[in-house]
Amino acid sequence: MRLNSKITYYDDNFRSQIKETALEFLRQLDGLTIFDIRGEDQSRTRVVTTLIHGNEPSGLIACHLWLRSENTPATNLRIIICNPEAARSKPIFTNRYLSNSEDLNRFFNASDDDSRDVALRASMISAAIKEVSPEAILDLHNTSGVSPAFAVAVSEDDNVLDLVSLFTQKLILTGLKVGALMEMSFGAPIATIECGGASEIESHQVAFNGLNRFFMRKDIFDRHANQVQVHRHPIRIELVGDASVGFCHHRLPTTDITLRADVEQLNRQHTPAGEFLGWYNPKNELPLKAVDEQGKDQIRKIIEAKDGCLFARSGLQLFMVTTIPEIATNDCLFYATIE
Ligand SMILES: [Zn+2]
Repeated sequence: MRLNSKITYYDDNFRSQIKETALEFLRQLDGLTIFDIRGEDQSRTRVVTTLIHGNEPSGLIACHLWLRSENTPATNLRIIICNPEAARSKPIFTNRYLSNSEDLNRFFNASDDDSRDVALRASMISAAIKEVSPEAILDLHNTSGVSPAFAVAVSEDDNVLDLVSLFTQKLILTGLKVGALMEMSFGAPIATIECGGASEIESHQVAFNGLNRFFMRKDIFDRHANQVQVHRHPIRIELVGDASVGFCHHRLPTTDITLRADVEQLNRQHTPAGEFLGWYNPKNELPLKAVDEQGKDQIRKIIEAKDGCLFARSGLQLFMVTTIPEIATNDCLFYATIE
């Protein structure tokens, strides 16, 4: 199956036909779907994108709940459901992207002559955002692992902090270029919201509460964001080459790297220098790299490898730690900021 090249548009009239559960709603969506909703002030438009990753349901659940309400938003809205095909592929809500496809959120910087279906879908989403000259853009995601909510953005200007503060008090300011939607410039503040772990009810609540504020408030740029805590210069920790990773309470004989079974817990807390992280085979070179915003390897600043064990080299905040081997292998193990 490939991502198709059509867009389905719905307006306010469709809201009464939306099925009762988010699951049934998803089954009503056939490919890239755009909801254009009229607001009180029709001179302004706000945009929400979600379901770029099919295994991250909080944004869809929140949009579903909100669209079924009878609320009229403060401004016009454009809600873009980006990749329902991935979410609908079996097992439902578990696949980041279609099995024979690639990660859509790595293609927003693709060149115009890239003919892959994900590149086309990314350009269609970008065009749909630009078309309405929005005053603000939010991209709603979940983390694969258990995690509190946080935001990721490429700017920390006041308007971005205001957007972030609708959902969370924690922002990762990133200069890493991976081809994600929020790296693109739309002439308006944009933030990615990681609403928390994909399977946590609390994440759906975070998504709905934040979205409802974003939709209903007349003025979202109210400078009430001064409590947002900013973590700077994230580093992306990846496997090198065809190295493999597993997660266990003891060193696995079947993988190059074993991270401790409860490593996801480190999404929730500060990791002090010296904290035990896992195991590697000391006979081989450590098959890990830590890419900084300049593209340089900083693994020695992040991880100390000693006698087959891995430790935090300095005080770290880890983000997006996941124990799903496929995502850890094909995307990255986690991100870290040195604190
Ligand atoms: Zn995502």
